[in-house]
Amino acid sequence: MKVAIVGAGLTGSLLACYLARRGLTVTLYERRADPRAGTAERGRSINLAISERGLDALRRIGLDETVMTDALPMKGRMIHPVSGPLDFQQYSAGGDRAINSISRGALNNALLTAAAAADGVSVEFEHRLCELDSAAGQMVFQTPSGKVTATADVVLGADGAGSAVREQLLAEGIVAEDVDFLDYGYKELSIPAVDGDFALDPGALHIWPRGTSMMIALPNPDRSFTCTLFWPAGAFDALTTAGTISAYFAENYPDVLPLAPTLVDDYLNNPVGVLGTVHTLPWQAHGRTALIGDAAHAIVPFYGQGANCAFEDVVELDRCLDDTSGSWARALPLFESRRRHNTEAIAAMALANFIEMRDKVASPAYRLTKQVEHA
Ligand code: FAD
Repeated sequence: MKVAIVGAGLTGSLLACYLARRGLTVTLYERRADPRAGTAERGRSINLAISERGLDALRRIGLDETVMTDALPMKGRMIHPVSGPLDFQQYSAGGDRAINSISRGALNNALLTAAAAADGVSVEFEHRLCELDSAAGQMVFQTPSGKVTATADVVLGADGAGSAVREQLLAEGIVAEDVDFLDYGYKELSIPAVDGDFALDPGALHIWPRGTSMMIALPNPDRSFTCTLFWPAGAFDALTTAGTISAYFAENYPDVLPLAPTLVDDYLNNPVGVLGTVHTLPWQAHGRTALIGDAAHAIVPFYGQGANCAFEDVVELDRCLDDTSGSWARALPLFESRRRHNTEAIAAMALANFIEMRDKVASPAYRLTKQVEHA
């Protein structure tokens, strides 16, 4: 039984590890060059919050400790008002629960290394899927030396929000998709370490709620912070010079300006990312081709659950294969029926959490409600 996984990102690499344990022959096809040999792509989020849902998937195959080595636990939110004192809001009543800031690149590399080392797994880099016959399991890839073809018994699209597998299924008239773009973009900025130490409390996810927009910051193992601005899409274009950028931050994010010496460079040179929710129906075709992770159900990042949810997909697909004695034809529809309502729920919650993070967390009424909940 030959399985092709398109995309060696977080989902595809973890999935390869799980399928290898079943004794399957797996080929991971990735459009990029091996990320372990180079630097991270500019414009992807640099770090991720991984919660218990994601850790559970890693723990089941013994990868949690490797991944957690450099993780920074964040036990609550630190709210930064325009003026006045900071406000720490812990995530759990006892203050004992945390989400973990993890480098996206390090996580991807750890999963890829584990996948590549597993028996039966091979990885083909610089292979961009450009054609697929989903009924026959035939694929065409663009590579640096031209087009190559491959065939597999099962083809799994783990190729992210802009999935080529989904696009091919759409072109074949097999799936319908609905992509709801948010009228907001995101841009990353950096706060470096100060005298070798964190410039802000590394035990918190920092939020600058500003009503219709916000900024967040997560700590990195090198003691820097990566900040992400979430602004209405057109708002980024309004600031085009060093003077206007600095003046805007001095007025709206006054505590950040002295901590971010590269702010103007970051602002002018880092791309604006798009945000959206992908709804796809169905996720599988012919019992042999399927979508998983962001390719099936990308969500906006405000609950920090996209990758966590994709990892849960992998665990559930593995469980479906157990429950169907390894029959892909039965496991793929079962996987979809078990996961769809969960992914729709988190998609809606992620959108709702944007309003909570950018606005409600700053209100006295919200703080009072949380105190009552924790009492
Ligand atoms: P991707 O990570 O997009 O990986 C897809 C892979 O497929 C890539 O390696 C790509 O190169 C490859 N590929 C694409 N097309 C092709 C092709 N045609 N042929 C071959 N290969 C292809 N989630 C969290 O859980 N916590 C967070 O804190 C969090 N923060 C986020 C912050 C931001 C700003 C954003 C945008 C997202 C965030 N997410 C977070 C969501 C998370 O990044 C995604 O859910 C996760 O990356 C999905 O993994 P994936 O492997 O399905 O897709």
